[in-house]
Amino acid sequence: MASNRLVCRECHRVNDADAETCESCASSSLTEDWAGYVVIAHPQESQIATEMQVTEPGAYALKVR
Ligand SMILES: [Zn+2]
Repeated sequence: MASNRLVCRECHRVNDADAETCESCASSSLTEDWAGYVVIAHPQESQIATEMQVTEPGAYALKVR
């Protein structure tokens, strides 16, 4: 896993390192300063997803600064 992937500050989605906008919410507020990689496969059944207000399956960061 590359460490320089970009995370969206709005929805915590993990995007590719060369992304300019978030693939999930189209925000351009992306940061390399994040921690805690988590893959959410079934948001409706996931407590973490509920806490993070994630509704779409995908890769997310637990902490974004
Ligand atoms: Zn986003």
